[in-house]
Amino acid sequence: MRTFGCQMNEHDSERISGLLETDGLRRAESDDDADVVVLNTCCIRENADNKLYGTLGHLKTWKDAKEGRRIVVGGCLSQKDKDVVQSRAPWVDVVMGTHNVHRTTELLHQAIEHGPITEILEEAVIDDHALFPSALPARRETSYNAWVTIQIGCDNTCAYCIVPAVRGKEISRPFADIVNEVRHLASQGVTEVTLLGQNVNSYGRDLSLAARRDGADVSAGPQFAQLLRDVGSVDGIRRVRYTSPHPKDMRMDVLQAMAETPSVCEHLHYPLQSGSNRVLSLMHRGYTGERYLERLAEARRLMPDLAVTTDIIVGFPGETEDDFVRTLEVAAEADFDSTFTFIFSPREGTEAATMHDHFIDPAVVAERFERLRAVVERSAWLKHQAREGRIEEIIVEGPSRRNPGVTTGRTRQNKLVHFTAPHPLRPGTYATAEITRGAPHFLEGKFVEVLSEPTHKIRIPVATVNV
Ligand code: SAM
Ligand code: SF4
Repeated sequence: MRTFGCQMNEHDSERISGLLETDGLRRAESDDDADVVVLNTCCIRENADNKLYGTLGHLKTWKDAKEGRRIVVGGCLSQKDKDVVQSRAPWVDVVMGTHNVHRTTELLHQAIEHGPITEILEEAVIDDHALFPSALPARRETSYNAWVTIQIGCDNTCAYCIVPAVRGKEISRPFADIVNEVRHLASQGVTEVTLLGQNVNSYGRDLSLAARRDGADVSAGPQFAQLLRDVGSVDGIRRVRYTSPHPKDMRMDVLQAMAETPSVCEHLHYPLQSGSNRVLSLMHRGYTGERYLERLAEARRLMPDLAVTTDIIVGFPGETEDDFVRTLEVAAEADFDSTFTFIFSPREGTEAATMHDHFIDPAVVAERFERLRAVVERSAWLKHQAREGRIEEIIVEGPSRRNPGVTTGRTRQNKLVHFTAPHPLRPGTYATAEITRGAPHFLEGKFVEVLSEPTHKIRIPVATVNV
């Protein structure tokens, strides 16, 4: 199982693995041991396409080396490309999309019996299992934390973004189903949950409207603030995270719920995209740089120890030097803890992809990208240095990949910490460490004490490829 892209895809992969394991397959340690390789694809930027077709080239050799080997391609890129995947790589056995993950095993059986198959549904089938990844059996990468889907699809129209085209319209998962799933996860020893959606602040708006249409006396607004409070008060849940909120829909009630619910972590991923009001308007983002900074100031007033991360796109069509300088200014004022910087990538089918006449010279984009990187890396490093001397609560992830003698974990602010423990600590252990050094991309610490041992029993990894 190989995953490209975001947390949504990682979570879909967990349920594809879960379905295949329910059907009798076992996780293979390497391609050599595998009979089936599943690629769960991403199409958010162009290099993801190139990577997929490159990987499929290698997999042809793998498949030809042994009778009976099968290749399944799912996810956003196959949803977008439909028949293109099998025409460019006819050796692929199953091509499926984002709306029929629940059919993985049936499609694999059909391909084994009748030959290659492509099945892409245009929209989600109105059936609980088809809609929400969390509703299917899953094999989670770790057993102490879990993703929980609260919403699928996206109703926004950001000019650069392919997500609405490949993930469909926004549908909220019933409130009680989410809370019940979190209770169930907690009963299995999960202590940290991340609520997933493309626009989590609008969670529940569709549910409220439907309830009012049915005559219920409920307010018509979104329900995300209440969801945070209810999930956050489930017994055994020590950390709640969520991604992604949309700045145009960020309301005070959500910030208050974050501040007043002790288990909700002091971390906000708050995607800026651009600091220029002109570019934000061309992107159809629905807020200005000033409004973004005002809400951020409110968030920090309510949660003084809040870590803030963001996404910024460089080189949106028509971005002038002045627009870019405004992005630098807003980024500097926002003082981010970490920033995912992206170069604009035209995605066929999006509005921005038609703005050819205004595409920015790649050399100019590269130069701007470096200037932005200097600004955001500087604030990230200063933020890390400011943690020095503090005692942080850490959830242990396991031994460091580079140095197995070192333990790694995450703080409540989601910062990676490396520290040396006097004895091995199981993943999921809560411990404290004193931060001794803030490096540009991680913290180093000195072990202080164990706060609690994990109670879960199993750990079944799923391989992930980041793009
Ligand atoms: N729904 C989330 C939001 O609104 O922030 C995130 C969606 S997307 C999976 C993650 C990030 O990819 C976006 O925040 C944006 O910065 C970036 N992105 C999306 N489309 C892009 C494109 N065409 N070119 C470059 N970056 C893009
Ligand atoms: Fe894409 Fe905008 Fe929806 Fe995020 S909110 S998924 S960037 S369309």
